[in-house]
Amino acid sequence: MPLIDELTKRIARQGPLSLADYIGLCLTHPTHGYYMKGDPFGAPKQSGGDFVTAPEISQMFGELIGLWCADSWQRLGRPARCLLVELGPGRGTLMADALRACRALPEFLAAIEVHLVEVSPSLREIQRRTLAGQEVTWTESLATLPDAPLLLVANEFFDALPVRQFEKTAGGWAERLVVAADDGRSLAFALAPPSPLNEALIPTGLRDAEPGSVAELCPAGLSLAAHLGAVLSRQPGAALIIDYGPARSSPGPTLQALRRHRRHEVLQDPGEADLTVHVDFQSLAEAAVAAGARAYGPSDQGAFLQALGIETRASQLAATAPQKAAEIEAALRRLVDPAEMGRLFKALALISPEALAPGLTPPAGFAAD
Ligand code: SAH
Repeated sequence: MPLIDELTKRIARQGPLSLADYIGLCLTHPTHGYYMKGDPFGAPKQSGGDFVTAPEISQMFGELIGLWCADSWQRLGRPARCLLVELGPGRGTLMADALRACRALPEFLAAIEVHLVEVSPSLREIQRRTLAGQEVTWTESLATLPDAPLLLVANEFFDALPVRQFEKTAGGWAERLVVAADDGRSLAFALAPPSPLNEALIPTGLRDAEPGSVAELCPAGLSLAAHLGAVLSRQPGAALIIDYGPARSSPGPTLQALRRHRRHEVLQDPGEADLTVHVDFQSLAEAAVAAGARAYGPSDQGAFLQALGIETRASQLAATAPQKAAEIEAALRRLVDPAEMGRLFKALALISPEALAPGLTPPAGFAAD
């Protein structure tokens, strides 16, 4: 049964869906979920992909993140066993580039245990091929990882987590729900009655927003950040979250659907388009800090990669492959230029408190707070 029929039947049986339930089913429904079916990455002409991520633009991205992890490991006191975890590894490209860049550091490679958090069986298969020869453990959730020193990376993962949306009305905050449209075969948005119970869910910076404003809330992202904060408060470690969104909580809505690099209607063709939101870095950092971690950033991706030495790396690569110099330069610009990914994308570091990570303040690429 196509996902749209499953959704309309479910709504007829159980009533409206929260937007988060709708997004969750569209992205990770076991058979129809957008991420469960195939490989959404790539340039439209080459592979028919729907979007391109930084690790797919250039090997430099994963390499620098690998070195950031190795540097953090050294400053954590070189724990003999350390988990290297990636959330939502896509095609496995970032991890492969990261591990290759760390070949010069055999002690680091001997200490790490690679864990990939991935729901999609088809992407797991691609990751297995990309990382052939590397021992890897897959898991569906951060919650099932062993309790040990931790390095964690998440690139364009949090933007794929389901959000709820609330609209400020004269009567208070009202949740936006997904209902069946009048034709019975398509979907529409509807507002639930406003409730004073919604108030506490709204990010503090948005509570006084103008009527008509929309607040987006990512329960899954917030609980991951809080869990990560708790782990980092008892185990030495560092996490690097890179994604797109504003540095401070801002009114939405930012949810958008993308198909073949074009905007698509959110409620049309469920399961066939990517659904993605701007990440609320402020709320993620607050949740992790409340649980005991320290937060650095978010810094603009461009500034972060420049501080890690991306320009030097680009020159090295161009010197060894002069025929590719223009391609390398274009990739560099795309990653760091403020008009491209350099400013919209940001890097947030979450690290253990001083007692567990005395040498790690601030982590590489971040300014002191
Ligand atoms: N980090 C990669 C891929 C980003 S796309 C890159 O930069 O190229 C998002 C990734 O997260 C995909 O691998 C997707 O299958 C995975 N994913 C999405 N929702 C998830 C969830 N709820 N749990 C685990 N993995 C998820």
